Amino acid sequence: MSSGEKIRVEEERLIVPDEPIIPYIEGDGIGPDIMRASMMVWNAAVERAYGGKRKISWKEILAGEKATAQLGQPLPQETIDAIKEYIVAIKGPLTTPVAGGYRSLNVSMRKILDLYACVRPVRYFQGVPSPVRHPEKLNIVIFRENTEDVYAGIEYKEGSEEVAKLRGFLEDQLGAKVRKDSGIGIKPISRFATQRLVRKAIRYAADNGRKSVTFVHKGNIMKFTEGAFKEWGYELALKEFRDKVITEDELWDQVKGPDGVTPMTKPGAFAHLRGGKEAGNPGERIVVKDRIADQMFQQVLTRPNEYDVIALPNLNGDYLSDACAAQVGGLGIAPGANIGDWVALFEPTHGSAPKYRGMDKVNPSSLILSGVMMLRYLGWVEAAQLIEVALEKTIMDRKVTYDLARQMEGVSPIKTSEFGQEIVRRMDS
Ligand code: NAP
Repeated sequence: MSSGEKIRVEEERLIVPDEPIIPYIEGDGIGPDIMRASMMVWNAAVERAYGGKRKISWKEILAGEKATAQLGQPLPQETIDAIKEYIVAIKGPLTTPVAGGYRSLNVSMRKILDLYACVRPVRYFQGVPSPVRHPEKLNIVIFRENTEDVYAGIEYKEGSEEVAKLRGFLEDQLGAKVRKDSGIGIKPISRFATQRLVRKAIRYAADNGRKSVTFVHKGNIMKFTEGAFKEWGYELALKEFRDKVITEDELWDQVKGPDGVTPMTKPGAFAHLRGGKEAGNPGERIVVKDRIADQMFQQVLTRPNEYDVIALPNLNGDYLSDACAAQVGGLGIAPGANIGDWVALFEPTHGSAPKYRGMDKVNPSSLILSGVMMLRYLGWVEAAQLIEVALEKTIMDRKVTYDLARQMEGVSPIKTSEFGQEIVRRMDS
């Protein structure tokens, strides 16, 4: 039985007691190994940061293989209920059951709990091998919409009755032609889902001193879905955050054109002159801008320090998150969270890597840093910083697990548990 108290929401604020009860799911495959090492690190950081005044009261809840073995199903209702009740939870990776009608336990949890924002901070830790020359220039937080787009699961098989019906409707009613041997997927993007995501992204930027929010879309081609995402994003930004934001167009309007009088208005108007000019000064305001998705993949490589918080629909977000994670050293260290209005479930971005189960071998950094995100969500910033600094020192001292060791010259890998111990040791130095 856990001691501790529940986290609550009161008057639009998260109320975190000194000993919050936080449910955790150990995870399948490598889950137990990385959860054990991570808990050691989180507990040590909280203890050191607050001298024992604060403490996490962990409460195990079951999902995946452990739940199937003990309760006969991989995603018991009591697990979902506990996450709702305790508001903040953390999980290890779960193996997708081959049978049982679950597309993925993770997707099911996001859907059932309406965790509509997939949040992925991407930053570089010194010492991590990276494929680019200046990985440290990328320091962004990605807000990816989790419930819509082609991932909404509205998809029909080639040759099915549903496809026949849809083709008939599209041709007869809308004059749109679709080849007979097609599968059909539907891409809904709504104002509601877009705006709640963008609201979260701008709030995050405002609360964390971030300088810009960029909407990434493919609106030049898909005007009424991706293009609408951008339009609704600006609409929300200007309606709800007018005193906090300035759009990129407004910034350019502050810059005088070639005659020294006429503002350099709309994008493209004086594009050839922009190269050497600075845009207007945003002051304390957050710059709201947008980029076409394909261009954005170049921008994160060529001008990474011009981006900060990024909001995007589901599919673009899926691609860009992993590409950016690779840029700073890969998925083994990239943390993540799925967040609803308040309920937040933190998790590593990799899977359960079953072939390494029980070997005390893999890198726990992704889960450890998901815990760092969780500590920041609780407002326990000191503990979060302690872990980030100690983890970076550990990697710089070349104390790393096999995945990083194999990319470094002359480094012998250490175990998952040893990596955790090395981090804790560096908290005291
Ligand atoms: P995976 O578990 O992410 O593993 C793929 C490879 O990534 C591993 O073989 C390993 O590469 C590397 N890797 C993953 N985690 C690592 C870590 N912590 N440290 C070092 N290297 C790590 O992907 P998968 O094999 O495709 O998926 C396995 C199961 O996990 C599936 O059932 C899948 O559905 C599930 N899954 C769950 C989640 C989640 O819970 N959020 C996410 C993705 C997948 P090397 O072999 O090259 O060393």
